[in-house]
Formats: sequence, C-alpha cells, structure tokens
Amino acid sequence: MKDIYTHRGLKFFGTTVEQGNFAPPLSTEPLEHQMVYTETLQQVIVKATGVDVDALAMARLCHGNTIGVFQTPGIHAVFPMTDGLVTNVSGTALIVTGADCPPVLLHDSKKGVIGLAHSGREGTYKNISFQLMHCMQVRFKCLSEDIHAVIGPGICQNHYQVSSEMARTFFGFGFDISIIQNGYGYLHLKKMIYKQLVELGIMPERILVSSDCTFSAEGIWHSFRRDKQQGILRHNERPRSSAFVAIMS
Ligand SMILES: [Zn+2]
Repeated sequence: MKDIYTHRGLKFFGTTVEQGNFAPPLSTEPLEHQMVYTETLQQVIVKATGVDVDALAMARLCHGNTIGVFQTPGIHAVFPMTDGLVTNVSGTALIVTGADCPPVLLHDSKKGVIGLAHSGREGTYKNISFQLMHCMQVRFKCLSEDIHAVIGPGICQNHYQVSSEMARTFFGFGFDISIIQNGYGYLHLKKMIYKQLVELGIMPERILVSSDCTFSAEGIWHSFRRDKQQGILRHNERPRSSAFVAIMS
C-alpha cells in the first residue's frame, strides 16, 4: 500500500505493483474469474485496513462518467459500468482502479461524504469530476466550498504521448494541457482535472495534486504505457491496474 492522502479521518491510498494486478475482469469473463478477483481484492484491502468486507464498494470501470451511490453495506457491492462512487456511510471503502489514469477524490468533512472517480482521458473529456460533485450535491447537499479534493497518481504530460489528432480534440482545454511536438501530441491529464475542479468552485488551496507519475514510479504504481513500452503486456492485453481506495472513518 502507498498512502496518497490523509485528512480528518479520511484515508486515501493505492495498492502497489508487488500487491498484484487489480484490473477488474470483463463482465463477459467466467463467473469464477469474477469471484476470484473480488475475493483477492477484498482480502488485500481488508488485511490492510481492517475494514469489514461488507463495507467495500468497487466500481467496474467503463471509461464513462456514471456515478454510483453506496449507502447499504451488507453485501459486497460491485458497481458495473460505473466510473465513480459516492458514500456517506463511515467505514466504507470506495475502490476504483487505474493504470496511468488518475483517481479523483472529493471529501466533504462537514457532511461526512466522499466521492471517488477514475478520470482517464475519456472520463476527463466527459468531465466525470462534474458528475461526481453533482451527485454529492444532489444526494447529500454538499457544497463545493466545503470540499477538499485530491488528484491521485497518474501519467505525466511528458510520458503521455497521443496522436496529434487526439491532441487537437483537447485544444479547448488550453495550450498548456494539449501540446503538439514533432508530430505527436502530449496531454496533461492532471492539469485538466485541476481546472475542472476549480471550475466547480472548489478552492485551489484545497486541491492536492499527487506528484507521482505512474509511468516513472516503477515498482510502485502500475502503468499501462510503461508495461506496453517494456513489452510486459502482450498485444491487446488489458492494462494491469492499481486499486485506489478511500475510507472515511
Ligand atoms: Zn512521467
């Protein structure tokens, strides 16, 4: 486990490379794989945190911007086709996975509400942070001025090479977000998310941005780009992922 952020009873951390690969199986994979995956992840998180197994909520990502609300612990909750989770139940662990895509955490310590989302290129383009905050506002009356936010480990701009066409679709985010050099584009995901959080009315001094680049943090965080470059992933193999976990006591 590596800590990302601790504040007023909130713990935010991720599983490291040596703890294994927590990329969720596809829904089309055999039920057995699904169960082994869920149990392995549960064991690791429960062992590390002491959280009750019934209080774990996992988002099975689809690179969209759908948010799930976890309010009834009792059975382990897996949210299919969901990229963000919100809860007001203390002791609950929210889990998203990532391999270069930063997790985004929103914490309202006044109301006791947390939200956690996976904000990769597509989720960021679809502004999943907006959906996360919107869900917290509508369901729990959270106010953006009360929010502390964390943008977790993710790939840095230097290592995030995309096609120049792709980079062009992000030009609207600003010249520092999407640059084109020698025919390739480079995207700054964390800065994009940071701007989105500020636009939501979250105070800049309450936004913490992890300096960890997943590509560079070999041995700590999983990185899809690094694994591809090093030939660790076979053709078309899905990214190996870290699990990012937020718990509010
Ligand atoms: Zn980097």
